[in-house]
Amino acid sequence: MRIVVLAGGIGGARFLRGLKVAAPDAEITVIGNTGDDITLFGLRVCPDLDTVMYTLGGGINEEQGWGRADETFSVRAELVGYSVGPSWFTLGDRDFATHIVRTQMLDAGYPLSAVTAALCERWRPGVRLIPMSDDRVETHVVIAGDDVAGDVSGVSGVSEKAAGSGGQAGPAGGRSAPASRRAIHFQEWWVRLHASVPAESITAVGAEDAKPAPGVLEAIESADFVLLPPSNPVVSVGTILAVPGIRAAVEAKKVIGISPIIGGAPVRGMADACLSAIGVETSARAVAAHYGPRLLDGWLVDTADADAAGPDVDGIAVRARPLLMTDVTAAADIAAAALELAHEPT
Ligand code: GDP
Ligand code: CA
Repeated sequence: MRIVVLAGGIGGARFLRGLKVAAPDAEITVIGNTGDDITLFGLRVCPDLDTVMYTLGGGINEEQGWGRADETFSVRAELVGYSVGPSWFTLGDRDFATHIVRTQMLDAGYPLSAVTAALCERWRPGVRLIPMSDDRVETHVVIAGDDVAGDVSGVSGVSEKAAGSGGQAGPAGGRSAPASRRAIHFQEWWVRLHASVPAESITAVGAEDAKPAPGVLEAIESADFVLLPPSNPVVSVGTILAVPGIRAAVEAKKVIGISPIIGGAPVRGMADACLSAIGVETSARAVAAHYGPRLLDGWLVDTADADAAGPDVDGIAVRARPLLMTDVTAAADIAAAALELAHEPT
């Protein structure tokens, strides 16, 4: 059995860990979101790829869901000593090593897909992990206001000092956005601002010119079915689908999705803020309608949203199951339910 999964970070990684238990003999290819990637301190950081790699490879900080287990923060403390930021994005010492290796390889000319494969030689995640594209795609969020402290848009790894630290740096220095509206890197909105400032729009910059990484389309074409884990529908799965060619390839397949929304709210994170930005209600049913019947064949909702099940919506078969990934067993049960739905005759 060949399965392709389009994954973001935590929700995707935890689901994948369950999928490996539910389908031990399957050949699983994971197409990872790279829209959240950012350059910090001169190092290329790929949060979603790393979350999948560390989670499946046994190196993740379990409680946090991202970053390395048994982490220390000496490098970060030293950077703070030099007043070099941004300080709102936490990188631990062990994690730094990953970004150093990645950046060295990228600088030597290797594409991100080759670099990811090399990093996975150490972590042995038990799946084939491919970034959605080797081209740079960056999720930007347009917000109102002109507080630019910590701004890293343009991803040059600007220090807070250099950017005018201390909060009010005045109108975006040199940037041409109107004073009352500006685009910031997704990580600045998500991590620094905790999505507390409403997003007027969310754009995957560079997506329209990006090409799927080598192996992406081939994996989808040869898959028995495609699974959409409970990842962010806008900035994780939506970004992957924005790379030309990927959506069409996925639409041609049987696709089963798992709702990241339970009882009208995201399980963790601020996916509701992303859905509002694109005018989609935060409900399991609305997310299914947003993906639509061309993409989705089946949709798993939580038992709390069983009213969203019942008669299938818009040609999408909807089933209700407990969807909280409290541990690996719970995630495996969810994955098994997705496989069952994938094997139902259409
Ligand atoms: P991120 O890149 O780390 O934000 O991770 P993803 O995009 O993969 O996933 C984020 C989504 O996972 C959020 O919208 C959460 O609501 C969802 N999520 C997290 N844990 C669970 C869970 O236990 N069950 C379900 N159904 N969704 C979850
Ligand atoms: Ca992410």
